[in-house]
Parts: sequence; structure tokens; C-alpha cells
Amino acid sequence: CGIVGYIGHNQAFPYLLDGLKKLEYRGYDSAGIALHKNGAIQVVKKTGKVAVLEEEFRSQNTESTLGIGHTRWATHGVPCDANAHPHSSKSGNLVLVHNGIIENYASLKEELIQKGYSFNSETDSEVLLNFIEDIHINNNCSLEEAIRIALKRVTGAYVILLLSKDYPDTLFAARKGSPLVIGIGNGEHFLGSDASPMLEFTKEVVYINDYELAIINPDQLILKNLGNETLTPYVQKLDMEL
Ligand code: GLU
Repeated sequence: CGIVGYIGHNQAFPYLLDGLKKLEYRGYDSAGIALHKNGAIQVVKKTGKVAVLEEEFRSQNTESTLGIGHTRWATHGVPCDANAHPHSSKSGNLVLVHNGIIENYASLKEELIQKGYSFNSETDSEVLLNFIEDIHINNNCSLEEAIRIALKRVTGAYVILLLSKDYPDTLFAARKGSPLVIGIGNGEHFLGSDASPMLEFTKEVVYINDYELAIINPDQLILKNLGNETLTPYVQKLDMEL
């Protein structure tokens, strides 16, 4: 399983697709990509190889400078298109990819069902996504704050990447227990489960630590802990051949 993300001034899709191929060695059963475009978020996801996803995109316009991608190793729900990531929230405003396991998803799901939520997949990931959205809407707080509140209530392991229709210039990312690397380019950022997708574009990377939330714009990487304290990203220079 793996995740990729891109935000910048270049096309996101080639990086995302190629990045997912570079992460194929990690194993997976489904793949998907979401692209932010003019206030809408296009989601394409399919059971099977990244090549199947690529084929599915052939007839589509992939123009976008902000996107996320995912390969899934099913833990909650069988491998099928509906359970594949990215997932969209109930309102359709938020789109998420997740690697890992949300251990307390069943009780969170119950809470959300009581509030009238229904689900399109059997995944723990869709529960986390709607949990974030519910806090964002009902606690009347910023999306960033809602992510922090949600993650403080979650047990398990995760790396998540999140897009919002309301934020055409921002990619939200967080992790606990699953790997996340952010490559720093010139007015662009590359995200991956490891550095292999970004090596040909940059050698400057930040390894995100547990319980950290990254708010990423083309030109800026803001790193915070779940207590809303701003952290200084530790930029490492990779010494690796392509
Ligand atoms: N638990 C999630 C699911 O079953 C994510 C699995 C993964 O790490 O790919 O969809």
C-alpha cells in the first residue's frame, strides 16, 4: 500500500501515476487518484493494478496542479471499487486517502450513524473522513482544527492526505505509525510513502513524525503538532542515486 500527493505549478497527474507505480512493490489490491480542479474534485478508483487505473484515466481530462493518489491493501472491507480510495465525505467537500488501520472506527461509526450519516464503503477510512467533516461542520471550527480534534480521538495507525473543495491551494497531511515523506521543490511539494517517487525532482525531503499535521501550499510547508504548536521542519538532503 502507498500514498502520493502533489501540489505546485506543474501537472499533478504524471507524478501521482508514476509515483504509485514506484510504490507498487509495497503490495496492493486497488488504486485511485483524486484531482482538484476549479472548485471540484475528480475521483477515479479501481480494483486491480495501477495500469487499470491508468487505462481508466485515458478518456479523462487530467489537468490539475493538486492531487492525491493511493494504493490499497484492504484491511476493512473486501477489495472492490467502492472500498478503494480516495473516499469522498458525505457533503462531497472533502476527499481522503488513508493507509493504515483506525482501530476504534466501529465506535466512531456508530456515533456518526446516530447523527444520520450513511456510508458508501466498509472502510475504517471513510469513517475517519466523515468524523473529521462532522467536527468541522458541527463544532464550527476550521478544517485544520477539525483534523487535529479528530486525530486526537483516533487510535491505530495512519497516514492521511486530505483535499477540500474550499481549499484549492492546500493539501493536508498527517501521520501516526505509517510513513510519510514530503519533498521540497521550487514552488511545489511532492508527497510519498517513501522518497522513491520524488527522487528525480528533489533531494530535499522532510520525514514527518508521528502526531504531526502538515498544511502544504505550493510555496509553503507548515508543520504542527496536534496541540497546534508550529514546528520547524527538519529538511534532510538525500544522498541517493536514481
Ligand atoms: N484500512 C484501510 C482500508 O481497508 C486502508 C488500508 C491500506 O492501508 O491501504 O481501506
